Amino acid sequence: MADLATNVAHVRVRIAAAADRSGRRTEEVALVAVSKTVDAVRIREAVAVGLRVFGENRVQEARDKIPAVPGASWHLIGSLQRNKAKEAVRLFQMIESVDSEELADELSRRAVQQERVLDVLIQVNVAREPQKHGAAPEETSSLVRRAADLPGLRLRGLMTIAPLVADPDEARPVFRALRELRDRIEHETSISLAELSMGMSDDFEVAIEEGATMVRVGRAIFGDRTQT
Ligand SMILES: *Cc1c(COP(=O)(O)O)cnc(C)c1O
Repeated sequence: MADLATNVAHVRVRIAAAADRSGRRTEEVALVAVSKTVDAVRIREAVAVGLRVFGENRVQEARDKIPAVPGASWHLIGSLQRNKAKEAVRLFQMIESVDSEELADELSRRAVQQERVLDVLIQVNVAREPQKHGAAPEETSSLVRRAADLPGLRLRGLMTIAPLVADPDEARPVFRALRELRDRIEHETSISLAELSMGMSDDFEVAIEEGATMVRVGRAIFGDRTQT
């Protein structure tokens, strides 16, 4: 548990320094601890050292772990098939990976059925990587309008996954592009998109410098994963 406490402290120092460098307050940046492949015992240790929000990328894996970790809240950060929407709405406080009108419609229907309000982000494939999910930048505005209108959903902002690069600074244009896209859509639609979920273990500091309000950090907290 000592290593976990040390890792978390170190990540928090790096978040604070990056916020400071860019003239932002540390409290503007939420830490989502990515716990995919990490077992419930270790996630409970993470709760014990002060982490509260966890990111999972698979509904099936999360279904078993969430009941075993009291006192936490959960974000789905991986792609979601429509046939798992009902269960995702039951398990997660936020779905960060909404990337189609069909999925937004289904999540809305399920949220209304379950009499709850679900926080959502629109995932954008800023770098247009063919293997990645996410709405194309030019589709994002219409998806934002749609999601903002649906009952049961509370649209909070945008999310992206930067390409894997050798130097984190190479990811900067992607983070900046997401912020600029957000600014443009807010201006066009008057819909508030306050949250920008961007940045992972290798690049979260650059993401914060470019305006991230949520960073999704796995390996820098829990160590390397044996599988993903
Ligand atoms: C795995 C994952 C992360 C965390 O990646 P690390 O490199 O372990 O920090 C963040 N976001 C998404 C969508 C992921 O799948």
